[in-house]
Amino acid sequence: MGQGEALVLTAGGDRALVVDAGPEPEAVDRCLRSLGVRRIPLLVLTHFHADHVAGLPGLLRGRSVGAIETTTLDEPPDQAAFVRRTAAAAGVRVLRTAPGPRRLGAIAWEVLWPLPGPVAGGGANDASVTMLVRTGGLTVLLLGDLEPPAQQRLAMSAELPPVDILKVAHHGSAYQDPGLLARLRPRIALISCGADNDYGHPAPRTLAALRAGGAVVLRTDTDGTIAVTGPPSRPGAAVTAGRASPAGSGGRRRAHGRGNASGSWRCRC
Ligand SMILES: [Zn+2]
Repeated sequence: MGQGEALVLTAGGDRALVVDAGPEPEAVDRCLRSLGVRRIPLLVLTHFHADHVAGLPGLLRGRSVGAIETTTLDEPPDQAAFVRRTAAAAGVRVLRTAPGPRRLGAIAWEVLWPLPGPVAGGGANDASVTMLVRTGGLTVLLLGDLEPPAQQRLAMSAELPPVDILKVAHHGSAYQDPGLLARLRPRIALISCGADNDYGHPAPRTLAALRAGGAVVLRTDTDGTIAVTGPPSRPGAAVTAGRASPAGSGGRRRAHGRGNASGSWRCRC
């Protein structure tokens, strides 16, 4: 079985900032419908691997998308061309990312990576758009599928605070820079990975390193869709993970965090 990743940051009402589109049009369409997302002012595609972009037609189905922001490296070229073709057919403009601050409603974020010029490491994963997000009183770092050469350069080049939530790089693969994890000290680590995937994700040593640093680890292969919400009426953030289903039923886990969360953050594999 394969795997993939799509992540939704709610921006109020039916609007959301979406990061990646997952591997299957049906799956991302179903997920966005269940969340009531009809307008996507911005879709960020962290890189062009199919497990992050092939779901794009499903995301566009019946929704208005303002723009698609992509990484700077067109690798693999056929998937980059697929994204451009699909966006053009839907009349959606495609922008190249660049480092710097952005905002959508109450969601503020900074693009930390890739830096201008040749990408450290040189592969598609190394070019993943990396975002430091502040929303709902939470600090969230989204690493895409970044590999250690780029992780190390990122750690050297960016002001990285400890984060509440880390979207672990590359589906929790074994290749994580220990120095970066030590700096981030996430309280909650999210891993998107397919059940029984052929890659062996997540790696036991990555899980061990995250837990040793004090993180609660949530993973989509065993926990299903993960939703991180911070109800405005209650201090603290709650993380809910449940087996994905249209009705949103199934097993659930909760982990409480600090801070006064007033927004919500959702993730789906
Ligand atoms: Zn991936």
